[in-house]
Amino acid sequence: ALAHKEFKVYLQPKYDLVTKKMVGAEALVRWVKDDGTMIYPDEFIPVFEKNGFIKQLDFYMLEQVCEMLRKRLTKNKVCFPISINQSRVLLNSETYTADVAMVLNSHDTPPDLIELELTERIFSDSLDEMAKMMSVLKDLGIRWSIDDFGTGYSSLNLLKKLPVDIIKIDKAFLDETETSNVSKIIIRKTVELTQELDKMVVCEGVETEEQASYLKAIHCDLAQGYLYAKPMPMDEFEKLMDSAEVVA
Ligand code: C2E
Ligand code: CA
Ligand code: CA
Repeated sequence: ALAHKEFKVYLQPKYDLVTKKMVGAEALVRWVKDDGTMIYPDEFIPVFEKNGFIKQLDFYMLEQVCEMLRKRLTKNKVCFPISINQSRVLLNSETYTADVAMVLNSHDTPPDLIELELTERIFSDSLDEMAKMMSVLKDLGIRWSIDDFGTGYSSLNLLKKLPVDIIKIDKAFLDETETSNVSKIIIRKTVELTQELDKMVVCEGVETEEQASYLKAIHCDLAQGYLYAKPMPMDEFEKLMDSAEVVA
């Protein structure tokens, strides 16, 4: 399927809550079969994590993003930073950081256009080793983001120990804001906490205007969700970038 190019990079824009302008995007994989049926990652990623194929797939996604950015940069077209999900399986490899650096090098990709997302659920007690690994890529200029923040067991420890730049608050908290004052408080305090630590905060799964205005009121930095845009094929996303103004 990889050789047949059945795996497609979809991109979902991220928006600045104040200016309502696009400031970046997340790459999300889609498996589009020959007959046009689309399979979503939740159905195949767990299988690929078991059989090891995820390593190839995640690097393929990174390659595709770097290639797209390189083509645009060569033509002096506007580029926004793109984040790419990284499976925990990748991190077991001793050559992981070197492999990532090589992909960026081979496409001459500015590292500040690449952000890597690690889900909070993967972190256990080997945080010191994880921090070392992450620092290697951070020193190159790549940014790290913690995905699904608040769903694991060690959220606060991660903020303390890891060289993280961006926190993505899990959608579940936002889902509950209408019914739970507790979730509202958690989001608000998480935004405050991470910003005081000089990190950016993204809220994912924003679906309603009410949610967006709450996030804006508590000064959350960025939002991602169906309210703004659904994940879209790369050519469609490129058109969005073509028409975007860059906000300094
Ligand atoms: P994630 O990284 O938390 O990605 C966000 C998911 O929420 C995406 O689902 C996205 O389409 C969906 N989403 C975005 N906005 C909204 C919204 O407003 N409402 C709702 N209900 N959902 C929204 P998707 O694309 O099906 O991906 C599911 C998960 O699969 C991702 O969760 C990520 O953990 C994993 N994944 C996706 N692509 C890759 C990849 O290339 N590599 C790896 N290792 N994992 C991936
Ligand atoms: Ca993600
Ligand atoms: Ca997430």
